[in-house]
Formats: sequence, C-alpha cells, structure tokens
Amino acid sequence: RSKRRGRGQITVYSHEIAQEMKRATQLEQALRNAIIADEVDVHFQPIVDLRSDAVVGFEALARWCDADLGYVSPSVFVPLAEERGFIDALAEVLLRKAAQAALSWPKELFLSFNLSSAQLMDPATSTRLLAIVGQVGLDPRRLELEITETAVMADADVAQRIVSELRAAGVRVSLDDFGTGQSSLGRLRDFSFDKVKIDRAFVSRISADRASEHIVKAIVSMCEGLELEVVAEGIEHSSEALKLKALGCGMGQGYFYGKPADAVATMRYLSQRYRDVAAR
Ligand code: C2E
Ligand code: MG
Ligand code: MG
Ligand code: MG
Repeated sequence: RSKRRGRGQITVYSHEIAQEMKRATQLEQALRNAIIADEVDVHFQPIVDLRSDAVVGFEALARWCDADLGYVSPSVFVPLAEERGFIDALAEVLLRKAAQAALSWPKELFLSFNLSSAQLMDPATSTRLLAIVGQVGLDPRRLELEITETAVMADADVAQRIVSELRAAGVRVSLDDFGTGQSSLGRLRDFSFDKVKIDRAFVSRISADRASEHIVKAIVSMCEGLELEVVAEGIEHSSEALKLKALGCGMGQGYFYGKPADAVATMRYLSQRYRDVAAR
C-alpha cells in the first residue's frame, strides 16, 4: 500500500515538473513575441545625492506586462531569457530604449543599466553594448553598468576583461546588491569598480537593528578607503535616509525618493526640477 502511495507521489511530482516546464516554455514564447512586437518596456528610478537630494542619475528597470500572463517580474523573465539563450536580444532592446530616453535628460545625469550573468560570460558583450550606445548617440561616459557578485563569480577572467574594456571606453561599473552574494571582499581589490550599491536587505533594517547599521557603516567606510562611490538601495522612509546621511553614505535610491516610472513620466519628473527640460 505504501508503495502504491509512493508511486502516486512520484506521479504527482513529475506532473508538477511537467507543468513547470510547460509554463516556462509558454513564458519563453510570450517573451520572444513581446520582444519582436516591441512590448517589453523600460522604466527609470531616480538615484539621488543624499546630501543635496539632487537627482544624479536613473537606473533602468525592465518591465513586461503580457496580455494573458499579466505582469511578469524582471527577476523571472531576465533569468528565463538567459537560460533560453536570448538575453542578448532582450538586453539590446532594453539598452536601446533606455539610452534613447537618456538622450532627453540633462547631460549631467547618468543612466545605470543592469547586466546579467550570462552577458558577463560572453566576451562579445563589451563590443555589443558599446555599439548600441554608439548608434543611439549616448556618450558612454553617461553610462553605468550594474553587475552582481554572483555574475562576477561565474567566470571571473572573462568578466574582468569585459569590465576593463567597458571602463576604457568611459563606462562606469557598479557592484549591485552588495553584501548578499557569496564573493569575497578581495573582489573589490582585484576588480576595478567605480561604485558599490548596498543591498536593500541592509537598508530596510537599518532603523530596526543595530547589526545592519554597523554593516552599512563598515561598507561606507571601506568604500571611502577604496575611493568607491556608495549607493544605498531600497530607501523607503525618511528615517532610513537620515541614518544613511549620518553614516556618510553618498547616494541613495528607493521608493522614498521615487518609484520606477516610464520614460514620459520621468521627463515630467525632470521638467519639474530642471528649467531647461521641456515636458513632452
Ligand atoms: P536590482 O537591479 O537590484 O533593482 C532594484 C530592485 O528593487 C528593482 O526591482 C526596484 O524596482 C526595486 N526597488 C527599488 N526601490 C525599492 C524600494 O524602496 N523598496 C522595494 N521594496 N523595492 C525597491 P525590479 O524592477 O523588480 O527588478 C528586480 C531585479 O531584476 C533587479 O534588481 C535586476 O537584478 C533585475 N533587472 C531588472 N531590469 C533588468 C534589466 O534590464 N536587465 C537585467 N539583466 N536585469 C534586470
Ligand atoms: Mg540594479
Ligand atoms: Mg540592486
Ligand atoms: Mg536586486
């Protein structure tokens, strides 16, 4: 009897796997179609100088809402595009759109764009990305690329070459989600980064627990010594912003300063802050 029940469980389990695979394939097809139909969009979230509250740049965040599937998070569809081998096609449309939007912003504002791990394993990535910004006409010195510790770990030699090629062209590179990956602090020495983004996990607990406050304090002081800029991610409350300022953190990003918004809303936001930016 127990054997039969066991077999039944296996059947249910493999049925779930089959369902999961079917869903992934549906998602893949829908995403491939969305790329072709130009339905994948990019939103922008402000990054501010914590001392002056001035906007210094925007992070581009991929957005996709399918007619049948509804809103799909980039943390779902970006890894899917990587696994199914079309991350380059996705990244190209996203970077093209983001760079195009950035052309209308004041020149001193930078555009920050997320790179996926698969892109950091492909030696052609730097050439490809520089060609896209070149075609759009965005000064590469206004571009910043966010990479994660995990992505750097995957193939450190190739990643390092890509990063130095990009930096040689004037692109800045930041280490995203810092503190959550499994890399060692030695990465900060061996790799040339320009900026470190402290993960939201520390920021959201900075008011509640002392440990997070000490960790942020240590990261800020380490970055100061290494001459790296620091951005705190996921600031949702004024109390967090105040504490981060007190700890000497230079930049911040989060719902407290602004949620990700589409290109048009971003222009409207900028036109309220800059006299010379005309709202579309
Ligand atoms: P990330 O690069 O660490 O981006 C920050 C995430 O935190 C974004 O989620 C953003 O909307 C969210 N966020 C910002 N401020 C706050 C806040 O105050 N509170 C909370 N709770 N969340 C906040 P999102 O847009 O869902 O993106 C998730 C992840 O997907 C990103 O994490 C990034 O790893 C990836 N991603 C998004 N767009 C792209 C892209 O164009 N290319 C690649 N390769 N990855 C992307
Ligand atoms: Mg990011
Ligand atoms: Mg992040
Ligand atoms: Mg993240």
